[in-house]
Amino acid sequence: MSVVHVVSVSGGKDSLATLLIAIARCGLANVIAIFCDTGNEHQETYSYLDYLELALGLKIVRLKADFREEVLAKRAFIAADVRNARVYATRPVFEADGKTPVLKRDGRGNIVLNKKGKPLQKTVKVGGGRRIRWTNKAKRRALAVMLPTGNPFLDLCMWKGRFPSRKAQFCTEELKRNMAVSYQLQLLEAGHRVISWQGVRRDESPNRANAKKWERVGRGLWIARPLVEATAADVFALAQSHGIRPNPLYLQDMGRVGCMPCINCSKAELRAIAARFPEHPVRIAEWERIVGQCSKLGYSTFMADAHPAKDRRVVFADLNIQARVEWSKTSRGGRQFNLLDEEENEGGGCSSSYGLCEQLEATVEAEVT
Ligand code: SF4
Repeated sequence: MSVVHVVSVSGGKDSLATLLIAIARCGLANVIAIFCDTGNEHQETYSYLDYLELALGLKIVRLKADFREEVLAKRAFIAADVRNARVYATRPVFEADGKTPVLKRDGRGNIVLNKKGKPLQKTVKVGGGRRIRWTNKAKRRALAVMLPTGNPFLDLCMWKGRFPSRKAQFCTEELKRNMAVSYQLQLLEAGHRVISWQGVRRDESPNRANAKKWERVGRGLWIARPLVEATAADVFALAQSHGIRPNPLYLQDMGRVGCMPCINCSKAELRAIAARFPEHPVRIAEWERIVGQCSKLGYSTFMADAHPAKDRRVVFADLNIQARVEWSKTSRGGRQFNLLDEEENEGGGCSSSYGLCEQLEATVEAEVT
């Protein structure tokens, strides 16, 4: 049973340093570098991966999610949707004193409990509700554009009928986590022992402050985090000492390497992207048009956020990517909503370092266990 060292490379500095350490300690022949392609990457990153392959003399395995089946199944579902059910707004019910909640009971008079064992409050429907099925107009709109494109990010959003958000960060899960996990599971099933190398640094964020250097997470599977005590300067210095240049995006005002842009990118980063790579916000605007058409509501914004308006058209007008770009050019006084972090956000919403986004690292480990 051989030991395979898998390093998930993102094109960023931390995953590069991790790869260099893995090669130095385990030998080039025992290391597999993987790259999970989201389809929302900068061309410089693809070119940089080619450069790394030449400079290091290894092949980087490119993994790309395929949602063709899901998109076609959703298309068929929408076309055949004749559901009659309605969804209703509800309001809680109180006793005559207006303060004491009336508890919800089932048909036998028993109090209904939630998953945590706490009693639920009785509610009543308000208004006439709305049909859950796709209207004929929405069907026509969606079916006109809902065809697989081969771009994982766009196809994923068409399938879901929306863009991911901080609260529903399914992009990380579907585009990175699942790809990396299934690759490692295949190695395990083939009889290998797998050491998964992650470029985690403790100083990146509070979530990583207690990251362990070494961890056994399942039968035949370990995680190695050789950079836990390193700083950003250390990892750049390590690459330099090996004669490897960093991803050119770092020299173009990008604080991190990953999706271009990331749904969680900072205000400053969005401003820099719009100034240096205006074609990317233009592409995202086109994606917003397509994904919006695939949505029952007719609108979807790449960078979703809370908004006081109920009218989706107003929300879209304020939060679409071009409006965000304009907002990113404003000073603090120009801030309209509680949108993105203003700081440069290294180690923030999504890490460029592990091929996995930060919030889901724990789930990856749990999944493979
Ligand atoms: S969280 Fe950001 S970088 Fe990670 S997959 Fe989603 S958009 Fe890409």
